[in-house]
Amino acid sequence: MKPAAFEHLRPDTADAVAGLLSPEAKVIAGGQSLGPMLNLRLARPARLVGLGAVASLRDIREENGMIVLGAAVSHARIEDGDSPVALPPMLRHVARGIAYRAVRNRGTIGGSLAHADPAADWIAALTALGAQIVLRSAAGTDRRVAMPGFVQGAYRTALGPDEIIAAVEVPAAMRDALWGYDKLCRKVGEFADAIGAVALHPASGHVRLVSGATGAGPLVLAEAGADLARSARHPGSPALRDALAAALPGTDPVKLRLLATALSRAIAKVLPA
Ligand SMILES: Cc1cc2nc3c(=O)[nH]c(=O)nc-3n(C[C@H](O)[C@H](O)[C@H](O)COP(=O)(O)OP(=O)(O)OC[C@H]3O[C@@H](n4cnc5c(N)ncnc54)[C@H](O)[C@@H]3O)c2cc1C
Repeated sequence: MKPAAFEHLRPDTADAVAGLLSPEAKVIAGGQSLGPMLNLRLARPARLVGLGAVASLRDIREENGMIVLGAAVSHARIEDGDSPVALPPMLRHVARGIAYRAVRNRGTIGGSLAHADPAADWIAALTALGAQIVLRSAAGTDRRVAMPGFVQGAYRTALGPDEIIAAVEVPAAMRDALWGYDKLCRKVGEFADAIGAVALHPASGHVRLVSGATGAGPLVLAEAGADLARSARHPGSPALRDALAAALPGTDPVKLRLLATALSRAIAKVLPA
């Protein structure tokens, strides 16, 4: 099928993009998730507001101890380290595991976050890294939402109706973080059946264990979970399965096992046995 007719607007500032939002309009970034929905007519916006002409949304810079990635930075640029500032190694690793190169060339970090597919990679990885999302409103003001709170459920985010994602901020200290990321999927390049994401930065006391692809938003299992991490690095660890079962009541036991396996593998990369 082909999409229903729409008008395509390409403003050249982020404020103008936000100013064009309305119930009939949708932002389009890489089109990798929205494109199929348009083709199947699951989405029928009268207006698409493209990000392609907004240069600032493709910036990567360092500011006030944060690495700031514009929302329209593609997965491929992160994978390639095509950036004027060094990126945390975990970001490059995660980007490389998303879909295949043609999708990564067009798909963007902001598009992935806004879409908030529960099985997507960035929502889990950026939660582990303690990122915050910068939301720009039609009034031109920014507000920041820390990652565990930005995703509010499957395909649900804290984005307001007149807001776009302008940027993602990752603490620059995360360049030195110890990290592990494990994604279980049937074929390389597919969305995950289970994700484990771990970031430890002892100097700042950052310890985050995240279970992703739970069916809802990423689950922060333990903000300060060093003890759990130590006891849970072996696959099959009852401590980890018990913690997941308590946090995700009613979850199928097979799914719980996959989630526990992915997380224990990620932990093992940080704290080898
Ligand atoms: C075959 C295939 C395999 C894939 N595999 C994976 C995978 O393994 N892991 C994974 O994580 N992802 C995967 N994806 C998804 C991919 O990462 C997409 O890039 C991503 O989901 C959407 O990014 P986009 O830039 O294409 O957004 P678009 O499709 O353009 O937009 C998606 C949604 O986000 C909104 N949006 C986009 N940008 C903004 C913004 N700045 N502010 C506010 N709203 C915005 C749009 O209005 C739309 O609702 C896959 C996609 C395909 C087609």
